[in-house]
Amino acid sequence: MEKNNIKKQNVYISEEENLLNWNDIQESFKKSFGKEVYDSWLQKISLIKEYNDYLILGVPTRFFRDWIVSRYLDKILEQVKSFKLSLNRIEFKIIEENKQNQEFIKINELNKVTEIRDSILNYNRLNSNLSFENFVKGKSNDIALSYSKKVCEHISRYNPLYVCGGVGLGKTHLLNAIGLSLQHDNNVMFISAERFMYHFIKSIKKNDMVNFKDFFRKSSVFIIDDIQFLSGKESLQEEFFHTFNSLMDKGSQIIISSDRDPMKLDRIQDRIKSRLAGGLVVEIEAPDLELKIEIIKKKIEDIQSQFKENINLSEEIIKFIASESKTNIRELIGILNRVIAFSRVHNKILSLSDCRNILKDVFNQIKIVTVDKIQNVVSNYFNISLNEMLSQRRSRPLARPRQIAMFLAKKMTTRSLPEIGRRFANRDHTTVIHAVKTITRLSEQDDEMKKNIGQIKSLLLEQ
Ligand code: ADP
Ligand code: MG
Repeated sequence: MEKNNIKKQNVYISEEENLLNWNDIQESFKKSFGKEVYDSWLQKISLIKEYNDYLILGVPTRFFRDWIVSRYLDKILEQVKSFKLSLNRIEFKIIEENKQNQEFIKINELNKVTEIRDSILNYNRLNSNLSFENFVKGKSNDIALSYSKKVCEHISRYNPLYVCGGVGLGKTHLLNAIGLSLQHDNNVMFISAERFMYHFIKSIKKNDMVNFKDFFRKSSVFIIDDIQFLSGKESLQEEFFHTFNSLMDKGSQIIISSDRDPMKLDRIQDRIKSRLAGGLVVEIEAPDLELKIEIIKKKIEDIQSQFKENINLSEEIIKFIASESKTNIRELIGILNRVIAFSRVHNKILSLSDCRNILKDVFNQIKIVTVDKIQNVVSNYFNISLNEMLSQRRSRPLARPRQIAMFLAKKMTTRSLPEIGRRFANRDHTTVIHAVKTITRLSEQDDEMKKNIGQIKSLLLEQ
């Protein structure tokens, strides 16, 4: 097969990342805009951050941005959309020339981008692609799907509806579908818990709490995504609790998503947990092979009908992709997009061995490293139990592995220091800082430590 040109990028990607390959997109720009325009403009655009329905792209100057936006934006959007169906918007960020050439975005830069997102996103952006029609039913999501539909037929029969499940399994998609289906006849508010906090803080700063309260309390359908984000944020929980109660009192429908069961929420007040659990709790589980195959087929159908393009993937290949993708549906779609992009760029029908190679590359490149995984690998490596590692005991054979695991969690995931602390049996973030400092120092001075860290990292990236 032709040597593929997917570059290795030196970035550890958190669970939330998607899998758009900017190199493939650049290739397609080159083809469709022609060399001259490509060399002077498009080549200089970099991918900063990918979200479900929009991208942030980096450009060198304001002038450059205006030029691109006025002349090429529509075509760029259309091109990128053919790699990423859910895309409906592109934002540009001006970045300094010297940063532009960096091959990867450092993790702390990603955090800065979150602030930008905050300043440009509006409330209530429902994504029209994430509808019930586009949601494929399977054993793992059947119950969640059918109750989501029931809520739409009969508001406040199940109140609140609480949808939980791991990352990338379709929670946001379902919530969004509910919003779409109810928005014509209701005042629908759809917001992530993170965004709710942003407005809360902004209103406090502007001394404008009255408006904040009014704004959220006037909705008749209140949908809040990723409620686990309220964890540990006391005053925010307080405000949420009041909003929740007043909405319930006036009979508004509330729909909530979270990565776990309400009673298992960490650092959320008990009274809130029990209110959350007081309606109907439905869970989305990991997809089985059959559902994964169905989703791939549905996506292919969508692309074919939207872009009038024939996508030729054999049953065998579809099954292969479905069985290789182990983590979640977001990853599955990412991989499928990769495979399709590859066949598009190289203009060929793929064989199974082509697919094997593409996937090998994808898996080498995108290693999902989570705090859980780090804890497991580190405790195994040092032959101690997970409980011992997380315990309060301070003897060195336990304390060092614990510190190493915290250090790696900081380096290899995008979790914040307080979040990491919490995952280590509710330790304070200063303990994490201390661990990071200690291990950084030791790994510079001590060959044994350097070797251990190196081996653990490669274990994490291999598995
Ligand atoms: P979560 O919010 O649980 O992390 P998302 O709702 O963002 O997950 O889903 C991740 C991706 O997978 C989205 O692109 C979504 O459209 C897609 N997806 C998830 N479940 C399904 C499904 N049953 N049918 C079609 N697409 C799905
Ligand atoms: Mg989500």
